Parts: sequence; C-alpha cells; structure tokens
Amino acid sequence: PGTLHVVATPIGNRDDISARAVQVLRSVALIAAEDTRHSRPLLAHLGVDTPLKALHEHNEDAIAQALVERLLQGEDVALISDAGTPLVSDPGYRLVRAARAAGVRVSPVPGACAAIAALSAAGLPSDRFVFEGFLPAKRGARRSRLEALAAETRTLIFYESPHRVAETLDDMRAAFGDEREAVLARELTKLFETVLGEPLAALAARVAADSDQQRGECVLLVAGCADAAEAQLAEGRRLFALLREELP
Ligand code: SAM
Repeated sequence: PGTLHVVATPIGNRDDISARAVQVLRSVALIAAEDTRHSRPLLAHLGVDTPLKALHEHNEDAIAQALVERLLQGEDVALISDAGTPLVSDPGYRLVRAARAAGVRVSPVPGACAAIAALSAAGLPSDRFVFEGFLPAKRGARRSRLEALAAETRTLIFYESPHRVAETLDDMRAAFGDEREAVLARELTKLFETVLGEPLAALAARVAADSDQQRGECVLLVAGCADAAEAQLAEGRRLFALLREELP
C-alpha cells in the first residue's frame, strides 16, 4: 500500500513549511485538504500542482473510505488542514484511524502548531501542559468546563475565537481567580504578532480596553494551579457541584 503523510502547513508566515513537506506535497498522487480554496494559494506559492480533494468535518467518513481504497492500491496521499498540524482542532482523525485500521502506513511531516508555538513563547511552565482545544461557545458550558479545570496543576492551553476572547477571560477570572498568570498569544508568525502575559485580572482589563487585542487568531494559556491547598479546595468545590446536581 501507499503511505498517508500527515503534513503540517504554516499558521501565518508562509516560510514556516519544511523542505520535506514541500517535497512530499509535490510527490504524492493526491492532497486531501480541509478547504481546497484556502489551500490553493499556498500550494501555488510552493510550486505544488498535485490534485486536491476536500476532506472536512462533514464528509470525512465517506472521503476517508475512498482515500483508504486508493492508499491500498499503492497511491501516496498527503493530508493538510487550513493551518498548522492536521488533527489538532482540525479534521483528519477519522482518516488516520481508518488508514491505520486498514494497515496503511501513516507518517507525520511535522511543523507549525499554534498551541506549541504559543507555549514556546509564553514563559509559563512548559514541562507539563494540557491542550484543551476550543472551549464551548455557550457561556454556561464554558464556565462549567473552566471550573472543572480549576484544580489542574499543568499549564492549560486553549484556542479561542477573537470575538469571544474578552468574555472568556472574564470566565477564566471567575474560575481560576484574578491572580492566576495567563498569556494571550495572538497572530503568531504574522505582522501583528503579540504575546501578552499578566495575571488574569490585568490581562482581562487590558483586552477589554483595547479592541485591537480582540482581533486575529489567538491562543490563551493559563498557568496551572500552583497551590496544593487551593487545588484541593477547587477539587472539593467541583465534586460538591457534581453531587449537588445528583441530589434531590
Ligand atoms: N491545526 C491548527 C494548529 O496546528 O494549530 C489549529 C487549527 S484551529 C481550527 C484554529 C485555531 O488555532 C485558531 O482559532 C487559533 O486559536 C489558533 N491559531 C491558528 N493560527 C494561529 C496564529 N497564527 N496565532 C495564534 N493562534 C493561532
């Protein structure tokens, strides 16, 4: 069978693609892309004219089957998403799973990932961290999710949309307290790249006061709970809330 190459593409700066990624994208029979219209300009810029096929959330199961057939017939396929590493808050999981189940070799071509790029510049403890992806869009669900994380001792990494970042910072203050250290990493590798690190209350106030901080793509990072007593208290509160829901 052929190989499924999972290829990372840039998260902003077009030069952030590896020489091997370009070589693989040129050599495969087909590139499965999250949004072909989005990927075409990048591929043209890289001198890649490999045929594209759309693979997104809504057609992934059907397309995955068709791609696995082609892989089994010996064709090599590359998977890319709109930005960064496929499968990281992006489609691809079902394709990779189907390929592996069929005995097809799956090989990563690593590169940019916004979560890791943000962590590398945030100055928060980086020896242990948790990637939480996107928080729920609805406020109640978002608050519950954050409360459930209040006792987490590892650094927390979230993706957030710019028009919710101010609201989410407020919810984070409520869940983690005003003093917890946080970092907003915005527009990484792009013209308006900004990395702001402050206690949550100060960061929330700054973002609320400056609408420029509510634009572009952003990653939010929050230091883990440093205080063992505080962690126990938060865990107690979380369990109590769970119990209260169950009790008559
Ligand atoms: N697969 C991508 C990766 O490897 O990072 C993530 C895809 S996810 C749909 C898009 C989210 O990633 C954005 O909403 C934002 O939270 C984050 N992101 C992507 N590019 C970014 C950048 N240049 N700066 C900051 N955050 C970015």
